[in-house]
Amino acid sequence: MLSYLQPSDLMVQLVATDFLRYFLAAGAAYLFFWVIFFEKWQHRVIQRKKLQSQKMWMEVRYSLSTLVIFALVGTGVVLAKKAGYTLLYDDFREYGWIWALASFALAILIHDAYFYWMHRLMHHPKIFRHVHLVHHMSTNPSPWAAYSFHPIEAVVEAGILPLLVFLLPLHTGVLFVFLLYMITRNVLGHLGIEFLPKAFVRIPFLKLHTTTTHHDLHHKESSSNFGLYFTWWDRWCGTEHKRYRETFEEVTTRES
Ligand SMILES: [Zn+2]
Ligand SMILES: [Zn+2]
Repeated sequence: MLSYLQPSDLMVQLVATDFLRYFLAAGAAYLFFWVIFFEKWQHRVIQRKKLQSQKMWMEVRYSLSTLVIFALVGTGVVLAKKAGYTLLYDDFREYGWIWALASFALAILIHDAYFYWMHRLMHHPKIFRHVHLVHHMSTNPSPWAAYSFHPIEAVVEAGILPLLVFLLPLHTGVLFVFLLYMITRNVLGHLGIEFLPKAFVRIPFLKLHTTTTHHDLHHKESSSNFGLYFTWWDRWCGTEHKRYRETFEEVTTRES
């Protein structure tokens, strides 16, 4: 349906969609964990610090500028689809359900690798200050930090979208679910509260997934835990925080 809109209307529609996606996900997480049920979760606050409203406003402001950049890239992708340049498709029968599921898993694996290596690159001393420092101004992040990027970093992060649609035949519905998964994991990574049970890092398959503690340690110390969805790139490249599992254990075994 989006393909039938004029580019300017399309841009407005995409800004609105991205805005909703961000505010619903970050707002729901913030309200649930930090406001309504805070008493239940306060012993799980990873850094044992309060969130500062000034910092949260900064995170929201940078996230808003990121949303505009994401919508610009999204507009480009929809126009490219209209012109027949992308591998996006609308009819499930074209590739079948098995491919729909496989392409979702592949999109996550590709994004995970893309994120890890781009993230490592942005930590290069010559690049860090100009591009990635904004995200690291949140040393004790809140859910609102999910999209808190410098505009250059926002372009880098948005780069996964054209990469996927030119590389993989993706159903538009699969792409939509992938974008929902991305914002959900992103918000949870910046939650500041470890909500998972203590057994999580010991259960096969589940332990391969990153946790809030994993990314929180990256914000606190910034020299380890560069991964997004999975822990394997950090393990393979020796960048996993030395005390990640101990910290997770410490946070999840605190008395309520
Ligand atoms: Zn982060
Ligand atoms: Zn970083």
